[in-house]
Amino acid sequence: MKAALKAKFLAGENVFAHAPLGYKRDPDNRNGIVIDEETRWIVEKIFDLAAHGAGAARIVRILMSEGIPTPGYINYMRYGTFSHIYEGHEEKAGVWTEKQVKKILTNEVYIGNSIHYRQVGISYKNKKRVRQPPEEWMRVENTHEPIISKDVFDQVQKQIASRRRMQRDKTTQIFAGLLKCADCGRSMSFATNRYQGREYKYYNCGSYKEYGKHGSCTSHYIRYKYLYSYVLARIQHWCRQVQQNEEQTLEHLLKAGDKERAATAKKQTSDLKKAEKRRAEVDRAFVKLYEDWAAERITEYNFNMLSQKYQTEQEELEEKIHTLKTDMNTVKETAENAEKWIELIKKVGYPKELNAELLNTLIEKILIHEAAKDEFGTRNQDIEIIYRFVGKID
Ligand SMILES: [Zn+2]
Repeated sequence: MKAALKAKFLAGENVFAHAPLGYKRDPDNRNGIVIDEETRWIVEKIFDLAAHGAGAARIVRILMSEGIPTPGYINYMRYGTFSHIYEGHEEKAGVWTEKQVKKILTNEVYIGNSIHYRQVGISYKNKKRVRQPPEEWMRVENTHEPIISKDVFDQVQKQIASRRRMQRDKTTQIFAGLLKCADCGRSMSFATNRYQGREYKYYNCGSYKEYGKHGSCTSHYIRYKYLYSYVLARIQHWCRQVQQNEEQTLEHLLKAGDKERAATAKKQTSDLKKAEKRRAEVDRAFVKLYEDWAAERITEYNFNMLSQKYQTEQEELEEKIHTLKTDMNTVKETAENAEKWIELIKKVGYPKELNAELLNTLIEKILIHEAAKDEFGTRNQDIEIIYRFVGKID
């Protein structure tokens, strides 16, 4: 680092090419920054959404749906920078990326600190810029007025870290893509919980996780450990059956299949009716909302919030209707399918443990029902395993 530059940092002076979003260069001090009242609300909004649990992807969707301009576009409008990108391309004004949002959410400039030397190390080998480890960064505190309180900032950093951990667990997660809520059909969401120093892995209905008690679904909580041992036991059961008497198992599968198919067809028809009815209701609500907004009966903020909600529900319903229609149209080649499944079972032998490959080879999906307590207070929970080719068989 050049000596003069280093001296500037230590004096708490900023050396930004452009001030970060929410700030502008201090007119009285060439190297300082002050809050920009015209754009600070964008930063506050982003932190507020994050503090209320939204991840970068959701924040991007909200910013875009509300047409909030990006820092790049604001700089273009003010100083003409990157005009080759923006000139004549107004549609690029609100194209946010997750990377941009994450950069804002982790930038200590918003709590009044100046961080330097984050990425300016140059590798002697290939002359490329290399990222310095955090302990090499130079942090000067309280160089300017903060936009975000330290509490909110710290909370958001914790959420980002836990989201990253969850993402990692999800990808190494053997049930990924297989678990569905038996009531709303959404994917079950994986999470971990610490209690008295021990870690518990569990699943919740994805819809419940997103909307909580105010949504339309319930928790469907199930422990990973319990699910694991149940599914392993069922697979082992079928492996044993096939090994002991293949003919008999085949016959059993065919019979069970008939009854199951009739019940499934009935449920699918009723689900489809329900989904189509709800779609019509949402469409009407949307029109009403638009009229209210046009007549200024509701605020722009509420309009944006509700229209976002309706749009999400519309998308979900469209997907559900599509899946149901495809499922209902699948041809039922029973005998052939039962034989195919028995071949799969024979290939896996007698598994002692589960892995993603084994599960995806044998299983189409696993439906998790809501638990209920019986009259003795025992918790009962149905887990429906839908196998490939043969559907539900036990
Ligand atoms: Zn659900």
